[in-house]
Amino acid sequence: MSTQEKTAVTPEAFLTIGSAFCDWFEANGRELPWRQTRDPYAIWVSEVMLQQTRVEAVLGYYSRFMEAFPTVEALAEASLEQVNHLWQGLGYYRRAALLHRGAQYICQVCGGRFPDTARELRQVPGIGAYTAGAVASFAYGEEVPAVDGNVLRVLARIYGIEENVDLPAVRRRIEEIAQHMIPPGRVWSHNQALMELGALVCIPGTPRCAVCPVAEYCTARARGEASSLPVKNEKKKPRVVPRTVYIVTDGKHILLHRRPAEGMLAGLWEFPGWPDEDSPRGLDPDTLPCDILFQREAVQAQHVFTHRVWEMRGVRVQVEGMNWQELDEDYRWIPREELKNFALPSAMRAFAAYVRDAGFGAPEQGEE
Ligand code: SF4
Repeated sequence: MSTQEKTAVTPEAFLTIGSAFCDWFEANGRELPWRQTRDPYAIWVSEVMLQQTRVEAVLGYYSRFMEAFPTVEALAEASLEQVNHLWQGLGYYRRAALLHRGAQYICQVCGGRFPDTARELRQVPGIGAYTAGAVASFAYGEEVPAVDGNVLRVLARIYGIEENVDLPAVRRRIEEIAQHMIPPGRVWSHNQALMELGALVCIPGTPRCAVCPVAEYCTARARGEASSLPVKNEKKKPRVVPRTVYIVTDGKHILLHRRPAEGMLAGLWEFPGWPDEDSPRGLDPDTLPCDILFQREAVQAQHVFTHRVWEMRGVRVQVEGMNWQELDEDYRWIPREELKNFALPSAMRAFAAYVRDAGFGAPEQGEE
């Protein structure tokens, strides 16, 4: 069955709706820094930062990142640690690692020439269909759609698509619809408009149909089912992973551990933890090259990731005579005040605050 048959919409109607989107966006779109440029690198950075993250949260990170790494070459030459440091607090650190790897691919494999079609962009590690469509349409005006979760929601509602949008075949059909909607010569406004509408008007839960520029065309609204679309896979409850986190210190120094270069929170620094399913290379404090004076419960914290929850029990391990030269290369024994120079994930925030604020240098009563 063709797209038109499935959605009972003619090609002209697709274009009418696409043009309505463009008109609305050209009159109402927000001015955002990444909308003021046609530099594919700058657009790529913004698209990666905006995944799963609100515009307001991205703005400061984007300008600091672009200042530090104004070109794809500058990003490729940086260390992952420098990149992570600028990403600190933005979350989903895998994005930073993939952006970094993608920049190295463009410089080393593509000879520094930024790929200029969606098809070529897909060859870059970490660039999927959505990002390729966004960069190709925004930087080069290629008439391709850019369909992310927000756009899926908007189009499933407008065309009353009641099938599960997580199914690849349904997603492909929506991408096909998005392609048909692009008015010739207006792809930039069109793709921006779909994203803007998804962020501000056709929001998850209860959409703001009363102020929607395409309300008159919307099937879900007409049927009174806007809030129940799109249909998606049921979300699994995040799994709880209990963890023990060690704040190893002699009062002046603390012990940090760098996570492996692959996997969760790759390459980031953390307070070392007892081995568990998320950190097989954990730490047994009894194996440290120093004397342990005492171990004491310090602070508890919880961090919710997309698929898991870390329930963390922080233990202060007071030591003396740390023979730091004997530590494995993934460990650092650093002066406490240098903690701010290391890229720590948000999951470590409570422990970093404890180190910073808890009257840490002086032994507490009865600790000798
Ligand atoms: S009318 Fe409502 S449901 Fe339809 S696109 Fe607009 S905001 Fe979304």
